[in-house]
Amino acid sequence: MDTIHAQFFWRGASDKFKYHMLKWEQLCVPKDFGGLGIINTRIFNDAIILKWAWRLLEDREEDVCCQLLKAKYCRNKPFCIRHKINFGLRMSISDGGSTRFWDDCWISEVPLRLLFPKQYNYCSKKGALVRDCMREEGTNIQFNRSFGAHEVVEWEELGDTLKDVTLCPGKDKPIWTLEKNGRYSTKSMYRFFTFRGVLNKRLDKLWKSKLPMKLKIFMLLAMHERLQTGVALKKKKWRKEANCNICNYPETVDHILFQCILAKFYWACFKEILGWDPVPQNLFHMLDHWIPLGCPEYDMKFFAFVIVAWALWVSRNKIRLQQLFPRSPISILFKSASFMQRWSVLL
Ligand SMILES: [Zn+2]
Repeated sequence: MDTIHAQFFWRGASDKFKYHMLKWEQLCVPKDFGGLGIINTRIFNDAIILKWAWRLLEDREEDVCCQLLKAKYCRNKPFCIRHKINFGLRMSISDGGSTRFWDDCWISEVPLRLLFPKQYNYCSKKGALVRDCMREEGTNIQFNRSFGAHEVVEWEELGDTLKDVTLCPGKDKPIWTLEKNGRYSTKSMYRFFTFRGVLNKRLDKLWKSKLPMKLKIFMLLAMHERLQTGVALKKKKWRKEANCNICNYPETVDHILFQCILAKFYWACFKEILGWDPVPQNLFHMLDHWIPLGCPEYDMKFFAFVIVAWALWVSRNKIRLQQLFPRSPISILFKSASFMQRWSVLL
């Protein structure tokens, strides 16, 4: 299904071959982490399946489907769930009958096997339940060998950790730590799987801008250096020339938008009109110095810049693909002015 999705994204309904300029996994990254936020069906499927694992963990008697599954697949043994649900699961202990002593999170934020790795390595029942290990008279954990001095210290620490645990009648309850209400949600699991750590504020702003979608995708590809430039296509074993057919330099995103003769003329006009010194040399120079995040009127400046970049890109495509050279460099100014006029209604 992801293959069909990807093919549709890059070539639409036509059967014509088109290069896939970004990996599908990268397009599926959430928008605030720099992707397009397309649902990755494989990961989403995992998150949905884990919903069943959660229902089995909840073990509600009125849930007939859950009881059926449990009777058929989980008979006479502690419920063994897929390991992925452990990323957000914490067990609240009652009788300890459905919580694994070493592998589940129940007394701390991480499983005991990670807190006490030596004890875990030497214990004889690694899959033991809390109920089996905690007795009224104290802990009941069996080990394969006697302890050395270091292991005795770790054993005492384990004893300290467990000293306040008391079991009581009732079923253990699962708590989902990725949601405030403590209940599993597919959305939170999917978000966890696709979490990328650092937010990309620049791209987050791009998605929230009023630009038309095709310009947003154009800018996303430009920022990833994945526009179909000569150099990028050459990496895909493109047969044609990788150099710019105006000035014969390697055709990159920065070349088309800033370093080509046509682009230089364009930015020189801005320099004259707005008194810029120096003119932008590449995309990130432009973004960092002329449109830094948090600058006054960021949205307006960014909106205008993307339209200018689009005008340069469209002109380049006409030259490259249709061999239509602009009659005069000023025609690019007119072209960007007409795009501005067309899309200013979106503001
Ligand atoms: Zn050029």
